[in-house]
Amino acid sequence: MPEGDALHRAARRLQPLVGERVEAETPNPRAQIGRIAEKLDGRRLLSVEAVGKNLLLTFEDGIVLRSHLRMTGRWTLVPRGATRRGRPWLVLRGSRYEGVQWNGPVLELHRRAIARLGPDILAEDPDLDRMVANFRAGDPGRAVGDALLDQRVVAGLGNKWKAEALWAVELSPWRPLEDTSDPELRALLRAAAGQLRGSLEGSRHANRVYRRVGRPCPRCRVPIASRGQGDANRIAYWCPGCQR
Ligand SMILES: [Zn+2]
Repeated sequence: MPEGDALHRAARRLQPLVGERVEAETPNPRAQIGRIAEKLDGRRLLSVEAVGKNLLLTFEDGIVLRSHLRMTGRWTLVPRGATRRGRPWLVLRGSRYEGVQWNGPVLELHRRAIARLGPDILAEDPDLDRMVANFRAGDPGRAVGDALLDQRVVAGLGNKWKAEALWAVELSPWRPLEDTSDPELRALLRAAAGQLRGSLEGSRHANRVYRRVGRPCPRCRVPIASRGQGDANRIAYWCPGCQR
C-alpha cells in the first residue's frame, strides 16, 4: 500500500531523470485525457518530490504533474527503450533512462505546486513547530489520531504509522487535542518521523498494534482494540491498557 515512504522511494527512483529534457508519451488511452504527453513533451524535468501522498514532478515553465498512486499505481525506472508488456499511463524518456507510470490512477497537470499541505513528516529536518501549530489551529476537541491523518496538519502519514507512532508514545488515538500537551505532540511526531524514515531506509518493523486486533499488547498484554475513526472512518488500532 503506497504510504508516504513508498512515495519517497518512487521519488528517489526517478532522480536520474531530473535535469533532462524528456520525451513524453501516454500509451494507455485512460491517460490521454488532458493531453498530458503533448504538454510535457520536450520540457526539462526540474524536480521529483514526494509531498504528502502525492508525487510532484515539476517541469520548466511552472508545470507540475501530480501523481497520486492510491493502492494500485507505481513508477518504475528502466533503461531507455527497454521492452515492456502492457500499456503504461505515462512514459518520460530521458537520454539513458525512462520513467514509466503504471495504473495511474491520478495524473493531473497543474500550473504550480500544490499548496495547503502540511509540512512533510519525511523531510530531512521535519518542521515540528509548524505541525504542532497546525494541530492547535483546528478544533481542540478533535481526537489526536484523527488529526494526525489530516494532510493539512502533517503530510505523508498513513494509517499504519499513525497506529504505530501513537503506540510508541503511549497516546490513545481518542485523546482530544485539548488534553494533549505540546511536548506529547512533538514526541508523537518524532516517533512517526523516525519509524517512517527507518522504513524508507529498509529496516524491518514488526507491527505492535496495526492489524493486531485481539492480540496481546507487546508492552502490557491487554488485547489490542480497533474502531473506525474520523470522517473517512479509517480503522484505528490501539492498546486500551497502556495508551492513555
Ligand atoms: Zn498495552
